Parts: sequence; structure tokens; C-alpha cells
Amino acid sequence: MGIRTDAIHAGVRPDPTTGSVMTPIYQTSTYVYESPGKSTGYDYARTINPTRSALEENLKVLEGGRAAYAFASGMAAISAVMTLLKAGDHVVVSHNVYGGTYRLFARVLEDYGLSFAYVDTSRIENVEAAIRPNTRMVYLETPTNPMMVLTDIAQVASLCRARRLTSVVDNTFLTPVFQKPLDLGADIVVHSTTKYLNGHSDSVGGAVILARDEHAERIQFVQNSVGAILSPFDSWLVLRGLKTLPLRMRAHDENGMKVARYLEAHRGVARVLYPGLPSHPQHELALRQARGSGGMISFYLKSDEAALRFFAPLRLCALAESLGGIETLICQPSTMTHASVPKEDRQRLGLTESLVRISVGCEDPEDIVADLEKGLAAAL
Ligand SMILES: *Cc1c(COP(=O)(O)O)cnc(C)c1O
Repeated sequence: MGIRTDAIHAGVRPDPTTGSVMTPIYQTSTYVYESPGKSTGYDYARTINPTRSALEENLKVLEGGRAAYAFASGMAAISAVMTLLKAGDHVVVSHNVYGGTYRLFARVLEDYGLSFAYVDTSRIENVEAAIRPNTRMVYLETPTNPMMVLTDIAQVASLCRARRLTSVVDNTFLTPVFQKPLDLGADIVVHSTTKYLNGHSDSVGGAVILARDEHAERIQFVQNSVGAILSPFDSWLVLRGLKTLPLRMRAHDENGMKVARYLEAHRGVARVLYPGLPSHPQHELALRQARGSGGMISFYLKSDEAALRFFAPLRLCALAESLGGIETLICQPSTMTHASVPKEDRQRLGLTESLVRISVGCEDPEDIVADLEKGLAAAL
């Protein structure tokens, strides 16, 4: 089936008791046993819930995995993946991952004996050079947030297979509509469903999708043991959001390209980072490994002071963290999403105050551009 059909139908069956076309919100903590020791297959709702199972089945199909598990947040999903490791293990990580991922690795998991090397994974020789005898995993985000640096997933996945390392890709930015890491050879995909998958900025959640049965078994065990599950209501919201994911992603992509072109032509903008533009240094890789660039654009104003003036007149573009919603959100990564990254690391990565990140929504593109024009006029 095509992805539009799968997004609407995968995992969704009419409810057996009523014929309800939409999967009900099974708001229950427990289930009646048929007799002692004989459950219906549903025993306790941390372990299994039909609304969550429908969502997990849908995600599994969209990403082309063997299994999927839904978590209470993207960070809970990433934490679950990291439990595949043991004290003493080493991980090679894309060097400007999501700020919360960096915080989890550097300030929580290092205390449990894991170590991390942050490298520019866009160059395969950096990945190779960072591998040590105790390296067990390579963790990629592509495109990275907010620098929009791409990593060649197929190339890194094949290196990982040769070295028996687990490859993980955070696919939050492009979603399976535009990029399918498991098809490119990766072992595990993680998502913050908070972003495009739910798409309506009204739920926090995460997911892990796995290509290998041994990983799937372990993640299911951890999901139940740790218990950071997605609630029935949030599962229902994400399942509902997913039905329009392919339609929304097409709109985000069209609007993203229009806004990126507008910004690139504006004299108040120093530089635009958008893989869909021919000016992006990895545009060719973007065309090869992804079917679209989506709605995430980063750009530099001409100075840090210009940024102070830029944000004030914006009305349609909401000043907020997060991304991937149907509405346009805009932020200053250095003081908002990436404030937890140490200042010297921010400088090294180019995360200055003149950097702006926009999550282009599905509004009329002329209206988004008109709002940005007010900000850019003030910034000049
Ligand atoms: C938001 C985000 C996360 C974390 O997800 P939460 O749902 O906020 O816990 C991880 N990775 C990326 C790329 C994100 O954008």
C-alpha cells in the first residue's frame, strides 16, 4: 500500500464490540480474566493497551519496521533505546543533536558508565575515527537541529553492520513520509511524536521502531519494566494525527521551500540552512536519501542585535519551542531549545543569537512570508 493509505488504515480495525470505525480510547487500567491465569491477551494496561497497540502497529508499518513501541515522550523513547547498552559502552553521536538528547547523554547517562563521542557524522571518516573497542552504537540525527547538517544514513549503517554496531536514527524532522532510515539499513528509528507525527501541538509522546527482533523484544520488556508508556488518550491523538501526516508533510514541504526561497533573497538574512535549497552544501545528499525537506528552516540574521528587533513584530509566527505543528512556530535556539548546551559548544557549533529556527506550518504561505517581512524590516 502507499503511505497515504497506510497512514489512514494501518493498525486500525473496526472495534469488535460495536463496529466503531475509529479506534476507541480504551481508558482502563486493567482487564477481566476469563478464568484464573487465562487473560484475553490483555492483562494490565502498562503492559498492553488496544489504543496504544493500534498506534504502534501504524508506526511500525509507516517506518517499515518489525515492531514499534510508543512512549510518554521523545526523551522516554530515546532513554529506552539507551537501555540496550551497559555500563562501559561507548556511543558515537551526531555533534549537534537535539538539546534534550545531549542533556540526557551528558548529564544523566554518563553517571551510569556510558561514554559519548560527539562528532560531525556528515563525514564518514569522523565516525570511523571515533569508534573504539567498546563502541556499541552510533546515534544519528539527520537533518540536525538546528544546523540542518545531513548524515548519509546508508553509508553509516553499512559501516555499523561491518563493525557490529547498532545504528539509531532520530527521524523526527523528516518523518517516514520523506525519509525511511530502516530501508536505508539503520537498525532503530526514534521519534518525538510531539512534533510532525501528531502534528497539532497538543500531545507529548515518543516512539521507537525496530528492524531487528532481538532489539524489539528488549525494548518491549523495557517499556513494560520502566513504564514510560504513552497514555490511551495521547495514543488516540497521535493515531488521529498520523492519518493526515502525508498530506501535512506535503504542505510543510511546499511552504518550507517558498519561505526558504523568500529568506534567501532577503537582504536582512545572512544565510539560510535548508536542505531543499541548491545552496545547501549537502543538497545532493538530500535529494538522494529523502523525498522532501519539510518545514524546518534555520537562518542567520546579520547580527545578534538584529535578532532582538526581529522577533518583536511577529504575530502569525508564534515564538515558541517545539516544531512540527500545523501552525508556524519560530524560536531563537541559543536562548530557547539549546540553552542547555554549554556556551563554548554553542559558539563552536554556530549556535549564535543571530540564528533563527522556523517550523513552517500549513498556513497560506503568503501570510507566513508577510509576517516574516515585518520582522525582517524591523531587523534591518
Ligand atoms: C523534540 C525532540 C526530541 C524530544 O522529544 P520530546 O517529545 O520533547 O521528549 C528528540 N529529538 C528531536 C529531534 C526533537 O525535535
